[in-house]
Amino acid sequence: MTGRYAPSPTGPLHLGNLRTALLAWLFARSRGARFLLRVEDLDASRVRPGIEARQLADLAALGVDWDAAVVRQSERTELYAEAIARLDEAGALYPCFCTRAEIREAAAAPHGPLPEGAYPGTCRELSTAQRARHEHDGRSPALRLRSDQEPLGFTDALHGKQAGVGDDVVVRRNDGTPAYNLAVVVDDAAQGVGEVVRGDDLLDTTPRQLLLARLLDLPVPRFAHVPLVLGADGRRLAKRHGAVTLADRAAAGDSPEAVRAWCARSAGLAGPQDDVSLDALVRSFDSSRLTRAPTVWRDD
Ligand code: GLU
Repeated sequence: MTGRYAPSPTGPLHLGNLRTALLAWLFARSRGARFLLRVEDLDASRVRPGIEARQLADLAALGVDWDAAVVRQSERTELYAEAIARLDEAGALYPCFCTRAEIREAAAAPHGPLPEGAYPGTCRELSTAQRARHEHDGRSPALRLRSDQEPLGFTDALHGKQAGVGDDVVVRRNDGTPAYNLAVVVDDAAQGVGEVVRGDDLLDTTPRQLLLARLLDLPVPRFAHVPLVLGADGRRLAKRHGAVTLADRAAAGDSPEAVRAWCARSAGLAGPQDDVSLDALVRSFDSSRLTRAPTVWRDD
């Protein structure tokens, strides 16, 4: 049951990211399973130089280690292209010329608002002439999945039974970049990942990934979506919330061990008096003790 952590090198890891990584590692190591690290660097416009090295160093300082060379998505684009070609050959894709603004508008009307992030289907049934007109206008299309909108169920280790629709998700963006959901499904299968532990902000993406896995005939991992760390304003933790990275914490006098202890305690894995050494955390790990609610972090 190989586990993994898959950071995007767009900024330094904050306490929420570090805690998710530690939890993913503990899920795996407490069973003696392999653990892998995958850098999700496909979005070149958001990747920042030097951040990957810093993320890896921070994880290592926390005690998170991994068993094979780090995998970078930017080095695996052929794999994604091959999966996209397979979906296309099976007739499962259609070109979508919509801009974000057009999707927002169409999603708001006229049949009432669609679920968050759902595609209103504008380009699903475009005629050849309509497609040609868009192309003539210089619009390059994204590729979307023609889903059957059937609900897909799975059982999450923390959230229990879940069901959602694998909708018309983008598999290739209009700049040619493979989309997150596609790349994750291809990689988790290729790397033999049997258990995905990640932040519960990604719970909604799981039905889409299940659908892609089914269409690509790939194995489906188990899932555990762990609670996020929020700032005092209730929003997802970010730089503006103060001293939230390992370097910030070091400047405030906290060692990596102290940060690890905070991660374990705030996640419900250890009480104030408990041993929070790595060994003790691995030995005592029990996922049923994990908090289900987000943790609010206050910089004081
Ligand atoms: N790269 C994603 C992130 O940083 C995580 C993807 C995943 O774990 O499936 O939020």
